[in-house]
Order: sequence, then structure tokens, then C-alpha cells
Amino acid sequence: MQKRTVRDLRDEELKGKRALVRADFNVPLDSNRQITDDTRIRAALPTLRLLLDRGARPIVLSHLGRPKGKPEEKYSLRPVAERLAKLMHKKVTFVDSTITPAAIDATLALPDDELLLLENTRFLPGEESNDRALSQSLSKLGDLFVNDAFGAAHRAHASTAGICEFLRPAVAGLLMERELEYLGRVIGNAERPFVAILGGSKISGKIDVIEQLLPKVDGMLIGGAMACTFYRAMGLETGKSLVEEEKVELARTLIDKWGPRLTLPHDATVAPSMDDGSRAHDVARNMIPKDEAMLDIGPRTAESYARAIASAKTVLWNGPMGVFEKPPFDKGTNAIAHAMAEATGKKTVTIVGGGDSAAAVAQAGLEAKMSHVSTGGGASLEFLEGKTLPGVEALDDGDSK
Ligand code: ADP
Ligand code: MG
Repeated sequence: MQKRTVRDLRDEELKGKRALVRADFNVPLDSNRQITDDTRIRAALPTLRLLLDRGARPIVLSHLGRPKGKPEEKYSLRPVAERLAKLMHKKVTFVDSTITPAAIDATLALPDDELLLLENTRFLPGEESNDRALSQSLSKLGDLFVNDAFGAAHRAHASTAGICEFLRPAVAGLLMERELEYLGRVIGNAERPFVAILGGSKISGKIDVIEQLLPKVDGMLIGGAMACTFYRAMGLETGKSLVEEEKVELARTLIDKWGPRLTLPHDATVAPSMDDGSRAHDVARNMIPKDEAMLDIGPRTAESYARAIASAKTVLWNGPMGVFEKPPFDKGTNAIAHAMAEATGKKTVTIVGGGDSAAAVAQAGLEAKMSHVSTGGGASLEFLEGKTLPGVEALDDGDSK
């Protein structure tokens, strides 16, 4: 990786210094503002622990939800401070502002071995427009900057990108490093055979990923509703399945150009509607009934995809194979998750990107059995499209060893 990371910092750059950490603590809250999933907080712990271990004073910034540049109690980070303290087994002081004199004083008064969490960066007008003056104000909160918010790295905001103009060193945290390393492999030098599995509802959101990956993979396996747009291009009946009419032509072009490398499901699980799971049945792909929809890949397809995964050395998966939220249409998705988990055990590098795919893996209880499950939905897609992420771009370059 060509960016400097928190592990590259020298002792004198860390000891006693205020390390301003941009984390992604955008956690889901219920109506009582209780955290329902703290995965994102846990993901930042290694970086925070490293900083404390090396004598730095971590001051954490994050966004939460979508407040529009002004404070809104329901988007306060206060509940996160409590959870962070529990997970770190350390005192975490919460400051209910971000760039006020009180906030700056709190950063200067932070004792050793404690952490500080500042209020939601999106309460500040100028955060989302990457305002220069705001970036400069934020830079006064620390002596160095650590960006561990991979999930926000595709946004050029003041706390993710702009701040780096005013605060150096500016380095990647351990989560950021891990994300870039694993996702970087699949667009760089993936060990072969390299198989990509793409699904989800729409081709339109994934077309750039498909085009970026097709030249690099040994095989691309398609599932999800996306498969139906390809079926239409092949002249097959798709019934009531979700088809993107305006992408049929593009699907045809992809089949013509990449034919042998592009695998479509041989069979489908269909039903009159996704609320009609009890009427689900499996058909060959050329037998989809006019008044039913394909809601999952069929069992033959799941088996053959599992075989392809078993013979690969690198597997990237993005997008569920069916309507995994509604059993029995979760079978294909679960089959892929299990095949990947097994492959990981045989030294295959397995990588999952995309919010719904990550949720499906978590639902199957297989998160720990993947080499890497990306924490950034939108950011991982943009990275896989080959775009540079502003929050990464702005960091210090690493030594070219
Ligand atoms: P990710 O977030 O992993 O990138 P997407 O957002 O692209 O994935 O797609 C996830 C959605 O696709 C899910 O809500 C799932 O229900 C839907 N989906 C998958 N297959 C089908 C299908 N055959 N018909 C309708 N929706 C589908
Ligand atoms: Mg999604």
C-alpha cells in the first residue's frame, strides 16, 4: 500500500501527542437511541488501542446519520461514547461540541490512557462541502491525523479529506489499512484463479464494478435480479422478475464481449411474489413462468457456483444471490456464504463487499470465516470501480520500499 499508516509513525511522532482519529461510528440506533449493532465501533478498536499503547492521546471524530449541518439530539454521538468506554475498558469523555474553545481545551487537558469523543461532525455546516475554514478549525483538535473511517473515505468532507491540508502527519488507521490491502488485491494482483460473484438487485449500480473486474477475473458468476436483465438479453422469458429494460442492450454487449468468462445461473427459484415463499419452486432458466418472478438462484446453480469457489484462490463477492431477507429465497445467498467460509479454511482469500452482502454473511453467522468483510458499502463499491477515494488520497504517501 502506498499510503503511510499509523504503524509507520515514529515514537516521537506519537508519544504524548493528540492523535485526532476520524472513525466511522455511524451505528444504527433504535427509537430509544440504543445502539443495535456496534460492529463499526469494534472495527476501530485496534487503532485506538495501538495509539494508547504507544503513548498517544486519542481524540475521536465521527459522523452519525444525516443531520443537515446543525445539531439534532437524535444524531448525538453520546450513546457511542458509553459503548466505546465499555469496549475499550477505558474512560471516554464525551464533549457535546466539536470545534468550540471548550472542545479544544478538552483535547489539551486529556490525561494519558483516556479517550475523548467529540460531537457529530455533520452538525457542522461545511463538513459535507469540505469547507476550508472548517478543515482548518478541525486541525486544531490534534497534533496528528489518523483516518480509520474507510466507510466515509469516498466522500470529500472536511473531517475526511480537507483536514489533511492543515494537519500532518496524516496517516491511515489499521482498519483503513486492512480494507485497502484486501480490496486492493482484487483490483491489483489477485492470486489466481480469481473468481468474482456479483448479485443484488440492479445492474445499473454495479456496471462500473463489472466492467472493471471482467478483464481481471478468471470467472464472473452472476446472481440476484441482475441475472434477469442478462436473461432478457439472451431472449429468455423472465416473467415478473425485476428487469432493467434500459440495461438489456448493455447486458447483450457484455455477453458478446466476455461470453466464456461470464456465467449466468442455470436454474432459478421462482414464485408468484416474494411474499409467497410457500409457493416457491425451482425451474430451469428457460422455464420461468410468465406470471412468476425469479427470486433466487436455483439449487443446481448454487452447487456449481460452490464448486467454482472451491477451486479458486481468490474470491470476491458483492451482492446477494436472491431476496435473502425472505426465506426460502435466502438459500442461494447462504450457499455462497458457506462455500466461501469453507474455502477460507483451505487458504483461499475470501472478500465480501457491499452492505447487504455483509448483512447476509452476518445473518449466516460466518463473518469470522471470511478473510475480509468490508465495513464500507459505498466506499468499497467505488474502490472496486477503480475510483480514488478522497479520504485516502489526502493521506501522507508511504515510503516506497
Ligand atoms: P450490496 O448492498 O451487497 O451491494 P445490493 O444492494 O446490490 O447488494 O442488492 C441487495 C438487494 O438485492 C437485496 O435487498 C435483495 O433482496 C435484492 N435482490 C437480490 N436478488 C433479487 C431478485 N432476484 N429479485 C429482487 N430483488 C433481489
Ligand atoms: Mg445494498
